[in-house]
Amino acid sequence: MPVELLGKSTGELREYFASLGERPFRAAQLYHALYAERRFEFAAMTNVPAALRERLASAEGGRITPPRIARRFPSVDGSIRYLFSIGGSISGEGAKPTQIEAVFMPREGRQTICISTQAGCAVDCHFCLTAQLGLIRNLTAGEIVGQVLVALEENRQRLAPQTNVVLMGQGEPLLNYDATMAAVRILLDPKGVALAPRHVTLSTSGIVPGIERLGQEKIRPSLAISLNASSDEQRNTLMPINRKYPLDVLLDACQKYPLRPREYFTFEYVLLGGVNDTPEDARRVVRLLARIRAKVNLIPWNPGNLPYRPPTPQSIEEFQRILVDKGVPTFVRYSRGQDVFAACGQLALMETPNPFVALQ
Ligand code: SF4
Repeated sequence: MPVELLGKSTGELREYFASLGERPFRAAQLYHALYAERRFEFAAMTNVPAALRERLASAEGGRITPPRIARRFPSVDGSIRYLFSIGGSISGEGAKPTQIEAVFMPREGRQTICISTQAGCAVDCHFCLTAQLGLIRNLTAGEIVGQVLVALEENRQRLAPQTNVVLMGQGEPLLNYDATMAAVRILLDPKGVALAPRHVTLSTSGIVPGIERLGQEKIRPSLAISLNASSDEQRNTLMPINRKYPLDVLLDACQKYPLRPREYFTFEYVLLGGVNDTPEDARRVVRLLARIRAKVNLIPWNPGNLPYRPPTPQSIEEFQRILVDKGVPTFVRYSRGQDVFAACGQLALMETPNPFVALQ
């Protein structure tokens, strides 16, 4: 049975080549071809000798299975939402075939790729369409890093110099910790995909043991926390995970987290019209974050098939003003790709390219 090689570290590839009786330095060559050059066919790995390429491609060798693009949903703003098919023929956890999503968002000078770490999600945030899928399964490291590689390869003609990756698609990354971090190490490795740590952001709903574990990592991405509420009562309603890790426990973990010099926590706050967007909410958020080096991203709610409404422009402006006046750097992030259901909280395997069709 061929061994799946996508997602393997240099160390794992070294073991693999040892098992074939090949020299260990071949691992570095394959690693470079896979992650730095994005070669998914052995025949295209020109840094590997032809005889070894043939051996790798044979039945006793290995296989490289990048996520397969099932559909593309291009947005009018230049973003593309990808529906990927994964799994189906490899052994282990990745065996169960399913579909996941990623979004490619081009901007001047950079592109941002939003990827999934699980198929579906068990966390059950009430404003999130992905939650309605429930957890289908964890993704493997290869399935996670593969979304970035395929999105870059697909858009190689228009790539800007800088790539940002956000782990904010389907799933709670810290509930699939090992595979997520294996993928992140490849993304951040200068010999791998070679992204800067400040350009890779892991977003969590607030899984405290995962945050503590991440703080111990030598190589780690930036951390964003989905706050979305200004009190436990409100957050319990919107994000039931808050009953397990309430605000004082979550914010205490943030205070103890070893931020690097000039590093900030990003707190994401989805503004739901009439629910969590009042001036009093803004003042409570200021108090909650008082002892944390934090910046806040306000994300006006994107219409979806859920019983919420977007905030008014006035409430967004006032919320931001209250935070900024109290010294909390606060930005309003309008989601990209809204017309193709690619925006925050909208990744739910929607087959429609146009949400307004879905909402009629
Ligand atoms: S917001 Fe994130 S953690 Fe919450 S249900 Fe959606 S995908 Fe899961």
